[in-house]
Amino acid sequence: MKDFFKDRKAPQRANYGFIKDTARQVDCATCLDNRYVTFPHQDYAQAKRCQDCLDYCPECSGEGFHFVQKPNGYRYAKECEACRNVDHRIAVFNKARLPARYHDRSFDNFRPHENFDPTRPYGNLPDITSYAMNRAREFYEENEKGILFVGDVGTGKTHLLVAIIRHLTLEKGINARFIEFTHLLSQLRAAYDRKANASDLIKGITEVPVLAIDELGKGRNNDWQISVIDELISKRYNRSLTTFCTTNYPLHSHEHLMKPVDTENAAFRNSIESRSLTDRIGSRIVSRLCEMMDLAELKGVSDYRKRDFKTVR
Ligand SMILES: [Zn+2]
Ligand SMILES: [Zn+2]
Repeated sequence: MKDFFKDRKAPQRANYGFIKDTARQVDCATCLDNRYVTFPHQDYAQAKRCQDCLDYCPECSGEGFHFVQKPNGYRYAKECEACRNVDHRIAVFNKARLPARYHDRSFDNFRPHENFDPTRPYGNLPDITSYAMNRAREFYEENEKGILFVGDVGTGKTHLLVAIIRHLTLEKGINARFIEFTHLLSQLRAAYDRKANASDLIKGITEVPVLAIDELGKGRNNDWQISVIDELISKRYNRSLTTFCTTNYPLHSHEHLMKPVDTENAAFRNSIESRSLTDRIGSRIVSRLCEMMDLAELKGVSDYRKRDFKTVR
Protein backbone atom coordinates (compact mmCIF):
# COMPACT_ATOMS: atom_id res chain seq x y z
CA MET A 1 0.00 0.00 0.00
CA LYS A 2 2.86 2.37 0.76
CA ASP A 3 3.70 2.59 -2.93
CA PHE A 4 0.36 4.14 -3.69
CA PHE A 5 1.59 7.70 -3.20
CA LYS A 6 5.32 7.15 -3.42
CA ASP A 7 5.84 7.09 -7.16
CA ARG A 8 3.76 10.07 -8.08
CA LYS A 9 6.80 12.34 -8.30
CA ALA A 10 8.66 9.87 -10.48
CA PRO A 11 7.67 10.94 -14.00
CA GLN A 12 10.48 13.00 -15.46
CA ARG A 13 9.32 12.76 -19.01
CA ALA A 14 8.28 15.71 -21.14
CA ASN A 15 7.48 16.15 -24.78
CA TYR A 16 8.97 19.57 -25.19
CA GLY A 17 12.16 18.58 -26.96
CA PHE A 18 10.31 16.27 -29.34
CA ILE A 19 11.04 13.36 -27.04
CA LYS A 20 8.80 10.45 -27.83
CA ASP A 21 6.26 9.40 -25.26
CA THR A 22 7.68 6.54 -23.29
CA ALA A 23 5.20 4.03 -21.99
CA ARG A 24 5.12 4.21 -18.22
CA GLN A 25 3.59 1.69 -15.92
CA VAL A 26 0.68 3.38 -14.19
CA ASP A 27 -1.91 2.00 -11.81
CA CYS A 28 -4.54 4.59 -12.65
CA ALA A 29 -5.00 5.47 -16.31
CA THR A 30 -7.38 8.32 -15.45
CA CYS A 31 -4.87 10.45 -13.52
CA LEU A 32 -1.56 8.72 -14.41
CA ASP A 33 -1.12 8.19 -10.67
CA ASN A 34 -1.25 11.89 -9.90
CA ARG A 35 -4.27 11.21 -7.63
CA TYR A 36 -5.94 14.39 -8.93
CA VAL A 37 -7.61 15.42 -12.17
CA THR A 38 -8.10 18.93 -13.54
CA PHE A 39 -11.11 20.24 -15.41
CA PRO A 40 -12.58 23.55 -16.61
CA HIS A 41 -15.20 25.11 -14.39
CA GLN A 42 -16.72 28.40 -15.59
CA ASP A 43 -13.79 30.80 -16.11
CA TYR A 44 -11.16 28.89 -14.20
CA ALA A 45 -9.28 25.60 -14.07
CA GLN A 46 -10.18 23.41 -11.14
CA ALA A 47 -8.80 20.19 -9.68
CA LYS A 48 -10.34 17.41 -7.63
CA ARG A 49 -9.38 14.01 -6.30
CA CYS A 50 -9.25 11.31 -8.94
CA GLN A 51 -12.48 9.39 -8.44
CA ASP A 52 -10.95 6.26 -9.95
CA CYS A 53 -8.14 5.89 -7.44
CA LEU A 54 -8.56 8.34 -4.57
CA ASP A 55 -12.28 8.33 -4.07
CA TYR A 56 -11.31 5.99 -1.32
CA CYS A 57 -7.85 6.60 0.19
CA PRO A 58 -6.19 3.23 0.82
CA GLU A 59 -3.88 4.73 3.45
CA CYS A 60 -6.71 5.62 5.83
CA SER A 61 -9.56 3.57 4.33
CA GLY A 62 -11.23 6.83 3.29
CA GLU A 63 -11.58 8.02 6.88
CA GLY A 64 -9.14 10.92 6.60
CA PHE A 65 -7.37 9.87 9.80
CA HIS A 66 -5.64 6.91 11.47
CA PHE A 67 -5.81 5.80 15.05
CA VAL A 68 -2.40 5.92 16.66
CA GLN A 69 -1.63 4.28 19.96
CA LYS A 70 0.72 6.00 22.40
CA PRO A 71 3.05 3.93 24.64
CA ASN A 72 0.73 4.66 27.58
CA GLY A 73 -2.06 2.92 25.69
CA TYR A 74 -3.93 6.11 24.88
CA ARG A 75 -5.34 6.05 21.34
CA TYR A 76 -5.82 9.20 19.34
CA ALA A 77 -6.88 10.09 15.79
CA LYS A 78 -4.12 11.42 13.53
CA GLU A 79 -4.89 13.12 10.23
CA CYS A 80 -3.96 11.00 7.18
CA GLU A 81 -1.00 12.81 5.67
CA ALA A 82 -1.38 11.09 2.31
CA CYS A 83 -4.81 12.47 1.50
CA ARG A 84 -4.31 15.74 3.38
CA ASN A 85 -1.31 16.39 1.18
CA VAL A 86 -3.27 15.78 -2.02
CA ASP A 87 -6.22 17.83 -0.76
CA HIS A 88 -3.90 20.72 0.14
CA ARG A 89 -2.33 20.75 -3.32
CA ILE A 90 -5.76 20.62 -4.96
CA ALA A 91 -6.97 23.54 -2.82
CA VAL A 92 -3.90 25.61 -3.72
CA PHE A 93 -4.40 24.90 -7.44
CA ASN A 94 -8.07 25.89 -7.21
CA LYS A 95 -7.14 29.24 -5.70
CA ALA A 96 -4.58 30.01 -8.43
CA ARG A 97 -7.33 30.89 -10.97
CA LEU A 98 -5.66 29.50 -14.06
CA PRO A 99 -7.81 30.09 -17.15
CA ALA A 100 -10.32 27.29 -17.79
CA ARG A 101 -9.08 26.63 -21.31
CA TYR A 102 -5.60 25.91 -19.94
CA HIS A 103 -6.80 23.53 -17.22
CA ASP A 104 -4.74 20.55 -18.46
CA ARG A 105 -1.63 22.35 -19.70
CA SER A 106 1.56 21.05 -18.17
CA PHE A 107 5.19 20.53 -19.09
CA ASP A 108 4.30 16.93 -19.94
CA ASN A 109 1.97 17.93 -22.76
CA PHE A 110 3.85 20.96 -24.00
CA ARG A 111 4.58 20.62 -27.69
CA PRO A 112 5.57 23.41 -30.00
CA HIS A 113 3.09 22.03 -32.52
CA GLU A 114 0.50 19.29 -32.44
CA ASN A 115 2.26 17.21 -35.06
CA PHE A 116 5.98 17.32 -35.21
CA ASP A 117 6.97 19.05 -38.41
CA PRO A 118 10.72 19.40 -38.88
CA THR A 119 10.24 22.16 -41.45
CA ARG A 120 8.71 24.51 -38.88
CA PRO A 121 11.09 26.72 -36.98
CA TYR A 122 11.23 26.15 -33.24
CA GLY A 123 14.08 28.52 -32.56
CA ASN A 124 15.19 28.35 -28.94
CA LEU A 125 11.82 27.06 -27.67
CA PRO A 126 13.14 23.66 -26.50
CA ASP A 127 15.90 25.39 -24.50
CA ILE A 128 13.51 27.90 -22.93
CA THR A 129 11.07 25.08 -22.13
CA SER A 130 13.63 22.94 -20.34
CA TYR A 131 14.90 26.03 -18.53
CA ALA A 132 11.35 26.85 -17.32
CA MET A 133 10.73 23.24 -16.34
CA ASN A 134 13.94 22.99 -14.35
CA ARG A 135 13.22 26.26 -12.59
CA ALA A 136 9.76 25.03 -11.61
CA ARG A 137 11.14 21.67 -10.42
CA GLU A 138 13.92 23.28 -8.40
CA PHE A 139 11.65 25.93 -6.94
CA TYR A 140 11.60 25.02 -3.29
CA GLU A 141 12.07 28.26 -1.47
CA GLU A 142 10.18 31.47 -1.58
CA ASN A 143 11.99 34.66 -2.57
CA GLU A 144 13.22 33.09 -5.78
CA LYS A 145 13.56 35.10 -8.97
CA GLY A 146 10.79 34.73 -11.54
CA ILE A 147 11.02 34.55 -15.32
CA LEU A 148 9.93 37.12 -17.87
CA PHE A 149 8.99 35.33 -21.11
CA VAL A 150 9.30 37.67 -24.06
CA GLY A 151 8.15 36.56 -27.49
CA ASP A 152 5.72 36.97 -30.34
CA VAL A 153 2.08 35.93 -30.22
CA GLY A 154 1.52 32.16 -30.47
CA THR A 155 4.95 30.98 -29.35
CA GLY A 156 3.68 29.06 -26.31
CA LYS A 157 4.50 31.57 -23.56
CA THR A 158 1.14 31.26 -21.79
CA HIS A 159 1.35 27.46 -21.84
CA LEU A 160 4.77 27.68 -20.15
CA LEU A 161 3.50 30.17 -17.58
CA VAL A 162 0.51 27.96 -16.79
CA ALA A 163 2.75 24.86 -16.61
CA ILE A 164 4.94 26.60 -14.01
CA ILE A 165 1.95 27.56 -11.85
CA ARG A 166 0.46 24.08 -12.26
CA HIS A 167 3.71 22.50 -11.13
CA LEU A 168 4.21 24.85 -8.15
CA THR A 169 0.63 24.36 -6.93
CA LEU A 170 -0.21 20.73 -7.76
CA GLU A 171 3.26 19.26 -7.24
CA LYS A 172 4.66 21.49 -4.51
CA GLY A 173 1.61 22.96 -2.78
CA ILE A 174 2.92 26.55 -3.12
CA ASN A 175 0.33 29.34 -3.06
CA ALA A 176 0.18 31.15 -6.40
CA ARG A 177 -2.10 33.37 -8.47
CA PHE A 178 -2.43 33.79 -12.23
CA ILE A 179 -3.83 36.96 -13.76
CA GLU A 180 -4.23 38.27 -17.29
CA PHE A 181 -2.94 41.81 -17.58
CA THR A 182 -5.99 43.09 -19.50
CA HIS A 183 -8.23 41.55 -16.85
CA LEU A 184 -6.26 43.35 -14.16
CA LEU A 185 -6.65 46.62 -16.09
CA SER A 186 -10.42 46.17 -16.38
CA GLN A 187 -10.71 45.30 -12.67
CA LEU A 188 -8.79 48.47 -11.88
CA ARG A 189 -10.99 50.52 -14.21
CA ALA A 190 -14.10 49.24 -12.43
CA ALA A 191 -12.54 49.93 -9.03
CA TYR A 192 -11.67 53.46 -10.07
CA ASP A 193 -15.26 54.08 -11.22
CA ARG A 194 -16.67 53.06 -7.85
CA LYS A 195 -13.87 54.96 -6.07
CA ALA A 196 -12.56 51.77 -4.43
CA ASN A 197 -9.26 51.71 -2.58
CA ALA A 198 -6.63 50.42 -5.00
CA SER A 199 -4.45 48.91 -2.26
CA ASP A 200 -7.38 46.81 -1.04
CA LEU A 201 -8.15 45.68 -4.55
CA ILE A 202 -4.65 44.38 -5.25
CA LYS A 203 -3.99 43.09 -1.73
CA GLY A 204 -4.45 39.43 -2.73
CA ILE A 205 -2.03 39.60 -5.64
CA THR A 206 0.40 41.82 -3.72
CA GLU A 207 0.96 39.27 -0.99
CA VAL A 208 0.68 35.91 -2.75
CA PRO A 209 4.06 34.09 -2.70
CA VAL A 210 4.01 33.49 -6.47
CA LEU A 211 2.24 35.73 -9.00
CA ALA A 212 1.99 35.07 -12.74
CA ILE A 213 0.98 37.94 -15.02
CA ASP A 214 0.09 36.98 -18.59
CA GLU A 215 0.38 39.41 -21.54
CA LEU A 216 2.01 42.22 -19.62
CA GLY A 217 1.65 45.57 -21.42
CA LYS A 218 -1.39 44.57 -23.47
CA GLY A 219 -4.36 46.95 -23.68
CA ARG A 220 -4.88 50.63 -23.08
CA ASN A 221 -4.00 52.00 -19.69
CA ASN A 222 -4.24 55.33 -17.88
CA ASP A 223 -1.98 57.04 -15.33
CA TRP A 224 -3.98 55.80 -12.35
CA GLN A 225 -3.84 52.17 -13.52
CA ILE A 226 -0.11 52.45 -14.08
CA SER A 227 0.37 53.93 -10.60
CA VAL A 228 -1.50 50.96 -9.06
CA ILE A 229 0.56 48.47 -11.07
CA ASP A 230 3.69 50.34 -9.96
CA GLU A 231 2.53 49.95 -6.35
CA LEU A 232 1.88 46.22 -6.91
CA ILE A 233 5.30 45.56 -8.43
CA SER A 234 7.12 47.76 -5.86
CA LYS A 235 5.52 45.96 -2.93
CA ARG A 236 6.34 42.54 -4.37
CA TYR A 237 9.89 43.74 -5.06
CA ASN A 238 10.32 45.01 -1.48
CA ARG A 239 9.08 41.71 -0.07
CA SER A 240 11.20 39.65 -2.48
CA LEU A 241 8.14 37.78 -3.70
CA THR A 242 8.35 35.76 -6.90
CA THR A 243 6.69 37.06 -10.06
CA PHE A 244 6.51 35.39 -13.47
CA CYS A 245 5.33 37.29 -16.56
CA THR A 246 4.81 36.92 -20.28
CA THR A 247 4.79 39.76 -22.77
CA ASN A 248 4.48 40.12 -26.53
CA TYR A 249 6.56 43.28 -26.40
CA PRO A 250 10.35 43.54 -26.48
CA LEU A 251 11.69 45.26 -23.36
CA HIS A 252 13.08 48.31 -25.09
CA SER A 253 12.92 49.38 -28.70
CA HIS A 254 13.03 53.02 -29.37
CA GLU A 255 15.12 52.50 -32.46
CA HIS A 256 12.08 52.79 -34.70
CA LEU A 257 11.34 56.25 -33.31
CA MET A 258 13.21 59.29 -34.50
CA LYS A 259 12.33 61.33 -31.42
CA PRO A 260 12.67 61.02 -27.64
CA VAL A 261 9.81 59.09 -26.00
CA ASP A 262 7.84 60.00 -22.90
CA THR A 263 6.55 56.89 -21.10
CA GLU A 264 5.07 59.09 -18.37
CA ASN A 265 2.58 60.25 -20.97
CA ALA A 266 -0.55 58.08 -21.27
CA ALA A 267 -1.24 59.32 -24.81
CA PHE A 268 2.15 58.03 -25.89
CA ARG A 269 1.81 54.74 -23.98
CA ASN A 270 -1.41 53.97 -25.81
CA SER A 271 -0.28 55.16 -29.22
CA ILE A 272 0.62 52.81 -32.04
CA GLU A 273 4.18 54.10 -31.77
CA SER A 274 4.61 52.47 -28.37
CA ARG A 275 5.92 49.07 -29.28
CA SER A 276 8.09 48.03 -26.38
CA LEU A 277 7.21 47.02 -22.83
CA THR A 278 8.99 50.14 -21.57
CA ASP A 279 6.85 52.28 -23.87
CA ARG A 280 3.68 50.64 -22.66
CA ILE A 281 4.07 50.46 -18.89
CA GLY A 282 6.94 52.86 -18.21
CA SER A 283 10.62 52.44 -17.52
CA ARG A 284 10.21 52.48 -13.73
CA ILE A 285 8.11 49.31 -13.62
CA VAL A 286 10.22 47.59 -16.27
CA SER A 287 13.47 48.26 -14.45
CA ARG A 288 12.01 46.76 -11.24
CA LEU A 289 10.80 43.72 -13.19
CA CYS A 290 14.27 43.22 -14.63
CA GLU A 291 15.65 42.94 -11.10
CA MET A 292 12.93 40.51 -10.04
CA MET A 293 13.06 38.20 -13.04
CA ASP A 294 15.37 36.45 -15.43
CA LEU A 295 14.71 37.16 -19.06
CA ALA A 296 13.69 34.29 -21.36
CA GLU A 297 13.44 35.62 -24.88
CA LEU A 298 11.80 33.30 -27.40
CA LYS A 299 13.51 33.66 -30.73
CA GLY A 300 12.81 32.19 -34.13
CA VAL A 301 9.62 30.35 -33.11
CA SER A 302 6.74 30.14 -35.57
CA ASP A 303 3.17 30.91 -34.47
CA TYR A 304 1.58 27.62 -33.37
CA ARG A 305 -1.93 29.00 -33.93
CA LYS A 306 -1.20 29.04 -37.64
CA ARG A 307 -0.07 25.41 -37.70
CA ASP A 308 -3.34 24.09 -39.06
CA PHE A 309 -3.80 26.69 -41.75
CA LYS A 310 -3.44 25.26 -45.21
CA THR A 311 -2.84 27.36 -48.25
CA VAL A 312 -6.08 27.67 -50.19
CA ARG A 313 -5.65 27.30 -53.93
ZN1 LIG B 1 -6.46 8.11 -10.52
ZN1 LIG C 1 -6.05 9.11 3.56
